[in-house]
Amino acid sequence: MIKLASPDIRQQDLERMLEVLNSGQLVQGANVARFERELAEFSGIEHATVVSSGTAALHSVLSSLGIGPGDHVIVPAFTFPATVNVVEQLGADVLLCDVDPKSYVVTPHALEKVIVAHPDKSVKAIIVVHEFGYPAAIEQIARITGKYRLHLIEDAACALGTIADGQHVGYFSDAACFSFHPRKAITTGEGGAVITQRQELADKIRNFRSHGMQPQVDGVEFVAAGLNYRMTDFQAALAIGQLERFSQEIEKRHVLAEAYIQLLADDERIHLPEIHPGHSWQSFMLVLPAEINRQRIIGQLAESGIEANLGAQAINLLSYIKGKYRTDENTCPVATNLFAQGLVLPLYGKLKREDVKFVARTLKRVL
Ligand SMILES: *Cc1c(COP(=O)(O)O)cnc(C)c1O
Repeated sequence: MIKLASPDIRQQDLERMLEVLNSGQLVQGANVARFERELAEFSGIEHATVVSSGTAALHSVLSSLGIGPGDHVIVPAFTFPATVNVVEQLGADVLLCDVDPKSYVVTPHALEKVIVAHPDKSVKAIIVVHEFGYPAAIEQIARITGKYRLHLIEDAACALGTIADGQHVGYFSDAACFSFHPRKAITTGEGGAVITQRQELADKIRNFRSHGMQPQVDGVEFVAAGLNYRMTDFQAALAIGQLERFSQEIEKRHVLAEAYIQLLADDERIHLPEIHPGHSWQSFMLVLPAEINRQRIIGQLAESGIEANLGAQAINLLSYIKGKYRTDENTCPVATNLFAQGLVLPLYGKLKREDVKFVARTLKRVL
């Protein structure tokens, strides 16, 4: 079976993890601190805070920025529901922005249209999702959030290593959030991180992830209603080697994604994703035409030993969003189509060029 995703976990990573397990120091410790230093170094963003999931990262940032009841947050309509769930959990409301059909991310123009269309709403923030690692036009978006005095958060769950406008994600925004779920390019099982250049925000997030506890000379004080969003130390140990090898991993993904595009370009029924030099290629999603039944394709690929899947959700079609905001498939037609017809193919560094050829050939055969 050619799997959809496969983490690059090696013997030395397992040994490092075992060392932590044998030490008995299981909760957040030296390996979390080291992983944080190395994430900051890798991204060039000063403060990195490791947490227990990508969702925890998003929740910590939005809560620390003071997002709450009465606030509106603009989110892309094509993403994983966690992007929206954290907004709803904080008692705020979402405004959906449809995405671009080729890059699958929001454009500055579309975001500004949503802002000006809701002068009566108190828009407080924009969450940009670099879907599958494709870099959204973040510098221009930051100019817009500056103009309207909004917070800018990057849901970079799939975008560690993504370079947007010449900088690693996290540079132009208040903060960027990562996930280390096994579907992402680096994994700790469950895990996440926030990077930010704002010291004060980083301090708040660190406090929030650890019960709102503040060390004092004579013990601790609980200064805020924080949560427990810490990562265990053996999880961080698993990530350190993966991060060291990550630049090569991204390079391999670039080569393989370009091979897919080259091999599939002659079939005009297939809509291929946009390439970009700053793309980190967490996933390779193409779009099938409306007349092709995606479920049949996924089934026939599976019969040939190839795992394939849908890409992300159309938020306008989630049942609780439909109920609360009266949305339907026409609210965000691009997201609706990407959700219905998007097809993710296997992509990871260990994948061989022959595997990519086999997948491309099989796909064209079953279409
Ligand atoms: C995976 C993902 C998340 C959630 O991350 P978890 O670590 O699973 O909590 C959030 N947003 C996007 C865009 C994702 O792809």
